[in-house]
Amino acid sequence: MKISKVEFNVSNIKRCLCPECPVQAESVCVEGKKRIMAEIAWSSESGMYFEADRVPGIYCSTGKAMCKDINQHKKCRCGECEVWKEYNLGEGFPDFYFCQNGEKR
Ligand code: SF4
Ligand code: SF4
Repeated sequence: MKISKVEFNVSNIKRCLCPECPVQAESVCVEGKKRIMAEIAWSSESGMYFEADRVPGIYCSTGKAMCKDINQHKKCRCGECEVWKEYNLGEGFPDFYFCQNGEKR
């Protein structure tokens, strides 16, 4: 089955579990990005102001994490994610750890 490209949009960003993933929990770099995101209004779709390099998540769409101080020995949460389920990301490669393995392809 052909896997469709995961869209970089507000709905998917909101459902992404990466910001709460143990792999990123100790990252100073991720913490900084989360703080900036919290300052950006979530309220309207038209207020969307995200750029891929600002969002510490949705790596299944955007590819490997820019932050390098993440701990890939911790457990990936993608399998619990609604985006992962909707796009059947368990099929093919990569299926987990998109922050390390790059976007779904
Ligand atoms: S599948 Fe993983 S990388 Fe993609 S949105 Fe969900 S938690 Fe984030
Ligand atoms: S891709 Fe998986 S391992 Fe990487 S931050 Fe997201 S949930 Fe965690």
